Amino acid sequence: MYDIVVVGGGPAGLTAAIYGVRANKKVLVLEAVACGGQIINTSKITNYPAAPDITGLEFGQTLQKQAEDLGVEIEFERVDNIVDNGNYKLVKTEDDQYRAKTVILACGTVPRKLSLDNEEKFTGFGISYCATCDGGFYKDKVVAVNGGGNSALHEALYLSSIAKRVFLTHRRDEFRGSADLVNKVKAKANIELVLGANIVALNGERKLESITISRGGETSELSLDGLFVSIGRIPNAKELIKGLTLDKDGYIDAGESCKTNIPGIFVAGDVRKKDVRQLVTATSDGAIAATQALHYVME
Ligand code: NAP
Repeated sequence: MYDIVVVGGGPAGLTAAIYGVRANKKVLVLEAVACGGQIINTSKITNYPAAPDITGLEFGQTLQKQAEDLGVEIEFERVDNIVDNGNYKLVKTEDDQYRAKTVILACGTVPRKLSLDNEEKFTGFGISYCATCDGGFYKDKVVAVNGGGNSALHEALYLSSIAKRVFLTHRRDEFRGSADLVNKVKAKANIELVLGANIVALNGERKLESITISRGGETSELSLDGLFVSIGRIPNAKELIKGLTLDKDGYIDAGESCKTNIPGIFVAGDVRKKDVRQLVTATSDGAIAATQALHYVME
């Protein structure tokens, strides 16, 4: 029986796990894909205290090593379901099941899709949700980024140093992202803004060749080699555990204590309902959730 099973090996989950093992508890992290979470897609982290020059990948790898060196067990399995059996929880993956006194849900978010025909077919064949992961395939090519938040602005800036030309398409005329990033984007000669524009079709035979854009009641076609969709993210919590209270957008409803409505189940990071989703708030949640889980185990 584990004292704490953490679902998700991102900054929130691994921080929680570190706090757990430092309190001499038996801790398992279950991670579906790769440790580090969303931050491994960030080319450079500049706003995390005392880490002024580190890539997202380095951050994730360093955090994973720190956790493992301290005794955290990590298994690469996707959690399908958690059953609350009162004094213990059963965490089920495709191949295994683990008993835990407490569970910390740090399962993050997944990219929001455009929900257009061909989107799935062209994913990996011209459509991507991560410029840092796939940008290298588009050296000297023409790409578009869709979205108006900080992530889309970052992606456009990153791609502008690889691709020949970058279109930044956004459904409104104003950006949601920060003014300094908008200014940086506007200063780039090879980024072209396409505002007030909705993507209405993804065209091609075996790979994406063009997108159809609707703008001011008119449609036009934009030929390109790649499209990076960056229109926000959706939480991973739905149907993970029966009776868990979620907000209307599917985020887990817990206050700053990181305690969910189910005793012994805690939440940390982007999947929690909150106003500020940043690396520093994710690690902060990890520390709080683990501390609450430790109190629960001791009681
Ligand atoms: P976001 O801030 O929610 O922005 C999503 C963007 O996608 C918005 O511009 C939105 O348009 C657009 N959008 C949403 N649904 C759409 C749809 N169905 N079709 C077309 N466009 C759609 O998401 P994010 O950029 O991924 O950022 C998430 C959080 O992380 C934010 O709090 C952000 O500030 C933070 N973040 C911070 C940094 C940093 O450097 N500090 C870096 C990355 C992310 P509207 O604006 O019209 O709603």
